Amino acid sequence: MKYIDEFRQQDLAKQLAGAIAATVDPGRHYRLMEFCGGHTHAIFRYGVQDLMPANVEFVHGPGCPVCVLPTGRIDNAIQLVEQHDVILCTYADLMRVPASGHNSLLKAKAAGGDIRMVYSTQDALRIARENPRRPVVFFAIGFETTTPPTAVAIQQARAEGLANFSVFCNHVLTPAAMRAILDAPQPVAIDAFLGPSHVSSVIGSRPYEVFAEQYDKPIVIAGFEPLDVMQSALMLIRQLNAGQHTVENEYSRAVSRDGNLKAQILSAEVFEPRATFEWRGLGLIADSALQIRAEYADFDAERRYPIPEIRASDVKGCECPAILRGAKKPQDCKLLGTVCTPENPMGSCMVSSEGACAAYWSYGRLRGASVEAG
Ligand code: SF4
Repeated sequence: MKYIDEFRQQDLAKQLAGAIAATVDPGRHYRLMEFCGGHTHAIFRYGVQDLMPANVEFVHGPGCPVCVLPTGRIDNAIQLVEQHDVILCTYADLMRVPASGHNSLLKAKAAGGDIRMVYSTQDALRIARENPRRPVVFFAIGFETTTPPTAVAIQQARAEGLANFSVFCNHVLTPAAMRAILDAPQPVAIDAFLGPSHVSSVIGSRPYEVFAEQYDKPIVIAGFEPLDVMQSALMLIRQLNAGQHTVENEYSRAVSRDGNLKAQILSAEVFEPRATFEWRGLGLIADSALQIRAEYADFDAERRYPIPEIRASDVKGCECPAILRGAKKPQDCKLLGTVCTPENPMGSCMVSSEGACAAYWSYGRLRGASVEAG
């Protein structure tokens, strides 16, 4: 398949591995944060870490929308169902993420809550059309990639007069999370970033330039195929060896410097920055999420229903918060593979198809060296 097969070729992977081995400085250690869960899965599914020299280490980042959603927002969604009798439309990954009190959306559904798994915002709109007497709430999550479809759904609902439809907005912003990681009081040691590819196809590569300029961090926008990841690692290593820190774009087949302006304008019509938002693992971050503009208030579940701020704890022993900051890796969690498995997840990183713990479990569990926060 075009754009897939050529980025998985074994002979090219061997050549790139050789180039990386020849380029690394044996006297230094390279810590490269891959921002996206998609990168993490590519690294483990295709054995990319095993092709790296021992002094090149991938550090997993927070780029998994299900993983970074804090427990309190899942509690809020369950309250919408149990206290306000809404039909809640959600993506399947969220169903099994632990909520407070050993609850989850799946358990709330089993207890009689009307919670429906959808594949797209269009499914949620269809459910609203089919149930005109019932309030329907779409549980919107995700980074800049999934924001435009939610904006379209809200505009479509208004155009159709779908008064029973609203959105519980949890859309978050990538650059804010990157800044939070770098500005942390005890920042994790990261030499460079593999930047997200799908997000960057919307926002472009320009928003990362500030991190190269102000924080002296090289960034390469990296595609999700194994050769993309390896080529991007080589580009980062070359920059680090040369003492450079610029934004490079390995994923030029889909990403431009300015991104998708149409999608950006669409999102800005419907959403505006939220003053602050809680991220699992990163805490409260200013201007790191979106809320629905007042012009679309009728479709904002947070204006329609009382949604309290809930600061809930993660399951005791779950290391998801530290993993999402890059301070720990899944094998540092004592629950991995014992108490916590995909069938019985204790944290969001094991549930999501983009979660680091799910990647370790599926492709390379208990392999690789442990890391310490720097
Ligand atoms: S293995 Fe399970 S409990 Fe441990 S950090 Fe991952 S999700 Fe949390």
